[in-house]
Amino acid sequence: MHRKKALSKMIAAAVAVVASLGMAKANTAYASINSEAEQAAISPVYQASALFRQAGISYNQFNSPANGRKYGSRFGYRFGIGRPEGVVIHETATPNASAWAEARYFNSNWQNAYTYVHAVVDDQELIQLSDTNYGVWGAGVQANKRFIQIELCRVNTRARFVRSIANDASWIASMLYKYGLKPSRASASGTGTIWSHHDVSSYLGGTDHVDPDTYFEQWGYSMDEFYSLVKYYYNRLAHGTSTAYSGKTSASITVSRRSTVTQAPKSYVKRTAMTTSRIYSAYGWWTGKRVKAGRAVKCYGTRWINGKQYYDIGSGRYVRTLNVSGKIVALRSKAYIYNGRGRRTGWHYNRGNRIRVYGGTFSIARHKYRFCGFSGGSKIYIRSGNVA
Ligand SMILES: [Zn+2]
Repeated sequence: MHRKKALSKMIAAAVAVVASLGMAKANTAYASINSEAEQAAISPVYQASALFRQAGISYNQFNSPANGRKYGSRFGYRFGIGRPEGVVIHETATPNASAWAEARYFNSNWQNAYTYVHAVVDDQELIQLSDTNYGVWGAGVQANKRFIQIELCRVNTRARFVRSIANDASWIASMLYKYGLKPSRASASGTGTIWSHHDVSSYLGGTDHVDPDTYFEQWGYSMDEFYSLVKYYYNRLAHGTSTAYSGKTSASITVSRRSTVTQAPKSYVKRTAMTTSRIYSAYGWWTGKRVKAGRAVKCYGTRWINGKQYYDIGSGRYVRTLNVSGKIVALRSKAYIYNGRGRRTGWHYNRGNRIRVYGGTFSIARHKYRFCGFSGGSKIYIRSGNVA
């Protein structure tokens, strides 16, 4: 850890020398990632409970009051419930696993792992897994009783990285704001509100991870730059030029995280085909075969073919990501929810809601619908005209 710190100091010194010679290439790259992230459109924040319900997935409520004193029981911070002292920043170390995939994976695997966090974020959305008024198990016993913790998902392009850190930093800023904390950097004396997992390992102990430093370095980025970005979003909130996230914490849903130490990252992510999906070749030709709705597929990453995104499901076979992970759409009008026979269920979404739909449009009787997943085991739809 000390060697690594010394090394980063040397790099910083080298950058300073280069800068003074007027060739500040590394410096320029840093500045530009933050200047782009400051302009990024911030993605929506979802409660995992709502997403799981909508997708028909039952969730393992790990950090539940019902667990009493058992494993996974609730605990407050050292200064009390609702009194975190800052935020710990993590990254998942799992290439191309989305926040949605991470949330589902953790939901079904927490019994095998001993860590979980408050939120997972990628370039598309932020999914809040648990109530930030209570602690989680992300970075050892010292940090867990002090800080909110968030996982950043790995993405594969610079543009997506920029959006993902903007989502991460703006949510962190909103948490500081919500709890009456000001941005300050972690320190050896234990003060500070913005901590990397690496800072926790260096200054508090009880854990030995060094994330997110290595992942940030891949993009020519640093924890110090990220700290500046959090400050930028915090100042926007503090000066009233931006709306804070509602910070609403619904029922406490907590989901565990893959251990980055004991478990090597998998080369595929298991996902469920939400609709019956044609299987395509690498060139986008239909192979004549299909994956049935509800079947699990192993996804080895994504591929763009003729402007459409596909999951690589192995053996040269591809399915549309739209049929598996769906996409998030905004509702331009109040949308009644229909069953598979085109009858209203009595429920609706409100205008402006952002919901996930799977596949294209479906015809039922005379009307066109979008498929929204399952509710109580039954398929639910909205009229396609409600989607902007
Ligand atoms: Zn970590």
